[in-house]
Amino acid sequence: VRSFAGASVALFGLGGSGLATARALVAGGAKVTAYDDNPASVDKAGAEGIATADLRSADWTRYAALVLSPGVPLTHPKPHWTVDLARLHQVPVIGDIELFSRERRAEAPGAPFVAITGTNGKSTTTALIAHCLKVAGKDTQLGGNIGVAVLTLDPPAPERHYVVECSSYQIDLAPTIEPTVGILLNLSPDHLDRHGTMGNYAAIKARLVANAQAAVIGVDTAPCREIANGLESDGAAVTRISQADILDRGVGFDGKSLQRRMPGYGEASFDLTAIGSLRGRHNAQNAAAAVASLTLLGVDDATIARGLATFPGLAHRMEEVGRAGRVLFVNDSKATNADAAAPALAAFQRIYWIAGGLPKEGGIASLRPFFPRLAKAYLIGEAAPAFAATLGERIPYEISGTLDIAVEHAAADAKAAGEDAVVLLSPACASFDQFRNFEVRGDAFRAAVAALPDVEATRG
Ligand code: ADP
Repeated sequence: VRSFAGASVALFGLGGSGLATARALVAGGAKVTAYDDNPASVDKAGAEGIATADLRSADWTRYAALVLSPGVPLTHPKPHWTVDLARLHQVPVIGDIELFSRERRAEAPGAPFVAITGTNGKSTTTALIAHCLKVAGKDTQLGGNIGVAVLTLDPPAPERHYVVECSSYQIDLAPTIEPTVGILLNLSPDHLDRHGTMGNYAAIKARLVANAQAAVIGVDTAPCREIANGLESDGAAVTRISQADILDRGVGFDGKSLQRRMPGYGEASFDLTAIGSLRGRHNAQNAAAAVASLTLLGVDDATIARGLATFPGLAHRMEEVGRAGRVLFVNDSKATNADAAAPALAAFQRIYWIAGGLPKEGGIASLRPFFPRLAKAYLIGEAAPAFAATLGERIPYEISGTLDIAVEHAAADAKAAGEDAVVLLSPACASFDQFRNFEVRGDAFRAAVAALPDVEATRG
C-alpha cells in the first residue's frame, strides 16, 4: 500500500494479520516502526527486516499514523496505550481497512467494494454476497472481520470485487472508508444496552452507510430505521430491507420469498423455502441484503437466484452436519448466548436440544417462548444446573455433562421417537469451560455425529 510512501508509520500488533499489514506498508515504501507486547512476535518481524522498537519510548512527533493491527482483539473501542500516546501527539489512528480504502481510491476507484456491518449476520451476509459474485463469474475478494486480513487480498484492480466484513472497531479505524455499497444489517438494542455505548456504537456503524455510494439498511429495528430516514433526507441513495414485511420500496420478505421492489431495477421474487443454508427469518434479512446489493452491482436476477440456491452456509451457524433417517443434526456452536440461540430454536420443531457451557448473564430465561418446541434438552458444562432450573418440571431434560454423551443420548432418543426431528447444538453459552473456542466445540459436535451409526454427512 502506497499511501504512506516515504512517511514514518507506527504499527502495533504483530500477529499474523499485523505482520501482513507491516509487510504491505514496507512494500509500499513506508518507514514502519512496529511493536507488540509479545517479544516472540517482535523477533519474528525483526528477522524479516521490519524495524521494531518499543513504541512507549519512541518519538511520536515523527509518525504520520499509528496503524493498529486487525489482530488487536478489541471488539469495542477500548483505551489502549498506543492509542493514548498517538492521540496525545495528534497522530491519526487507523487500521488495515483504511489502508485498503486509500489504496483502492488511488489505484482502482471503480473497483466494486461492498462493506457489511451490523450486530448480527455480518459473516453470513459477507460470505453469501461473495458466493453470489463468484457464481456471477466475478473476480471476488472476501475479507475483513471474517478472518482474512484485507491487505492479504489481491490488490485493487478495476473489475475486482471486494466483499469486506467490518466490525464497529474496524469502521472506527477507517475514517475515509467509501464503499460502493455499504450494508447496515441491524443494531441490537440489547447488545447496545449491555455495552452502555449505544450512541457511539450506532454512530460508528452509521458512518459506513453514510460514506457509501449506495446504502442498504435493515429497517426492522428503530435505530436503523432512523439512520435510513436521516440519510435519505440528506439526499443519499438508500435501499431498505426487511425480514418482517414486504416493502413498497426495497427488498422485503413475505415469510417464504424475498420481494424486491427497487425503482429502476424492476420487481423480482426469490423463493427461500427450499434453501437449507438460509433457513430462518434472520437469514431472510441476510439474503435480502445480498439481493439488494447484488442488484445495485448489476448482477442479473437468474444469477442471484442461482447464487442463493447454491450457498453452502457457514460452519457453526445452523450448519447441517448429518442426517440419520428422519433426524437432522445441526451445528449452531456460534450461538454463545441466549439471543444468538433464538434464531435456531425458532427455525425448527421437535428439537433435541444440546445446550450449556460457560454460562452468560441472564441464562436462558429469554428463550422460554421456544420451550414448546423442545422434545428434550441435553445439558452440558457449568451452566447445566442453572439451565435445568429454568427448564423446570415442564420440559424433559437430562444433565449429560459432556458433548459426546449429549450427542449419543439425543441421537438415540430422536431416532426412537420415529418422527421428523432435529438434534441441535445451539449452546447459548461460551465454550471455554470445555473447549478452546466455539469452532473447536462445533468440530467436536460434527465428529461425534459422524461417529454415530447410520449417519450420512450432509456437508463436506
Ligand atoms: P456475525 O458475523 O455478525 O457475528 P454471523 O453471520 O456469524 O454473524 O451469525 C452469527 C449468529 O447470529 C447466527 O448463528 C445466528 O444465530 C445469528 N444471526 C445471523 N444473522 C442474523 C440476523 N440477520 N439477525 C439476527 N441474528 C442473526
